[in-house]
Amino acid sequence: MPAIRSPICTVEGHVDHGKTSILDRIRGTSVVTGEAGKITQAIGASIIPLSTIQKICGPLLQTLKMKFTIPGLLFIDTPGHAAFTALRKRGGNLADIAIVVIDINEGIMPQTEEAIEILKTYKTPFIIAANKIDLISGFKHQEGKQILQTIQAQEPNTQTQIETKLYELVGKINELGFESERFDRVKDYTKQIAIVPTSAVTGDGIPELLMVITGLAQKYLEAGLKYNAAGQAKGIILEVKEEKGLGTTVDVILYDGNLKKNDTIVIGSLTKPIITKVRALLEPAPLAEIREKKTKFKPVQSVTAAIGVKIAAPELENVVAGMPLLSATSETIEQAKAEVQKEVEEVLIKTDKSGIIVKADTLGSLEAVDKLLKEKKITIRKASIGNITKKDISEAESIYEQDPFKSIVLGFNVHISPDALETAKITKAKILTNPVIYKLIEDFEKWQEQEKKRQESAQLDLLVRPCKFQFMKGYVFRQSNPAVFGVDVLAGTLKAGIPVMKLDGKEIGKIKSIQSEQETIEKAPAGKQVAVAIPGVTIGRQINEGDTLLSSVPEEDFRKLKELKKYLSKQEIEILKEIAQIKRKQNPVWGI
Ligand code: GDP
Repeated sequence: MPAIRSPICTVEGHVDHGKTSILDRIRGTSVVTGEAGKITQAIGASIIPLSTIQKICGPLLQTLKMKFTIPGLLFIDTPGHAAFTALRKRGGNLADIAIVVIDINEGIMPQTEEAIEILKTYKTPFIIAANKIDLISGFKHQEGKQILQTIQAQEPNTQTQIETKLYELVGKINELGFESERFDRVKDYTKQIAIVPTSAVTGDGIPELLMVITGLAQKYLEAGLKYNAAGQAKGIILEVKEEKGLGTTVDVILYDGNLKKNDTIVIGSLTKPIITKVRALLEPAPLAEIREKKTKFKPVQSVTAAIGVKIAAPELENVVAGMPLLSATSETIEQAKAEVQKEVEEVLIKTDKSGIIVKADTLGSLEAVDKLLKEKKITIRKASIGNITKKDISEAESIYEQDPFKSIVLGFNVHISPDALETAKITKAKILTNPVIYKLIEDFEKWQEQEKKRQESAQLDLLVRPCKFQFMKGYVFRQSNPAVFGVDVLAGTLKAGIPVMKLDGKEIGKIKSIQSEQETIEKAPAGKQVAVAIPGVTIGRQINEGDTLLSSVPEEDFRKLKELKKYLSKQEIEILKEIAQIKRKQNPVWGI
């Protein structure tokens, strides 16, 4: 029977909401319970064995009435966004389970929302730590009490505040498509997200947080945690690092199988798979040795999932974080090569003809951006890893003619090379970068909207817009050639160049120019009184003082104006209707 490995757990959330503090507290609590020695520091992760969790949770865990078979929890040590988005394994999240930390006083922020969106996309179960509960006014820590008892022991006003804030959170989480409840009120963990009130400062709620995550992992992940302790090693590159005396090394989270010194490994790359041999497997040296600066790492012969490990090997210079790693034998090497490369290509190769260009720092983050863009039905022409280059800008520009609203490069966690910046200044292509994917997409959508508006308003400028004005009595400046007279703009905007008609639909000519206080102006808004010059008419013949006049909107312009109706004022729409009625007296199907 295959064994069950420790579930991999990440701590996610908005900056400063307390992710690092919660992780520290989980480790710290273990120290307080005298279990410090049992916490294994791995590369990039901490392993908390079940026995330690049982000790921390005490009778709490028994309330779950479960039989525990998981060996413990493997917490990824780097909390936060960049690491989180990079942590992908084939078809899913590297993390089996996650804690989303939310400052209860601040509520959901952009990175919280993004974390929840990504967890939703990958169907990763998660719980919420409603952190910084100690900052709620009047909150008093109760030594030795469980969180629910602690809440009950607060003054009524503080209790009400806690409840109110929790329910505000429940409401917001609901808007993101999840039902949630305080952990003790959750009836079905598969349908509701458990919220545990916590304080990383006082330690309140930390045992409950561990209890809920352990219970959830045991109950709903057990089947997915089966692994082959002697089988092929499968992992993800967490980081590529230069180490003194070791050269380029990779920090890997191993989520399946076993890896030994001298094993052959295959790592995905942007071009072709990298094949190399494990020269050394390294774990962090015990604290004492690190303090004495003897060594930072301790070599081991073999490691078994789930664990974090540093690998020293030749040929690692071109490895990129987020890439998949597999161990192989001479028989399985071809298959392993095909497998890693397929995984890379699935993310990198895009076939949409027209679409945007996406750049990200790792394979995992690129996939996350890709997924979120696809959910929004935004097409991608090219997605790749690395900084934004001049070539990316040129490619984005080549899309302009086809679709100006896709002529853009989106960058997540990447830099823009100086020549790309220069090129962008003189081309039509746009660059947008943001360290929060969801913000990046939001910025992109905003840009698209602005661009559309800009183009439409430019289009609007070319059309004859509805306008109504009156020939003011006593303001004849010139009888004819051209006729010059004073008008009162009643509604809409009077513009030079527009054709003018009378209320019976008869066109009398075009406005040659508009003058106001001896200055020539291009347009005059409603309420303004100006002088207009119209060639080809004689006052007293075709027009008379006191006449009401309208812009004579051409049929084609009328149709376009209808499409751009959202940019017209209510008054303009009214006049447009009036103009259409007049036109239809002569041609009943005018503008239809
Ligand atoms: P991260 O950016 O999410 O990792 O947040 P940190 O763990 O670095 O915490 C940000 C700040 O909030 C630090 O000053 C912490 O001391 C503080 N903090 C974290 N958790 C709590 C808590 O539960 N209560 C209080 N009062 N402060 C907290």
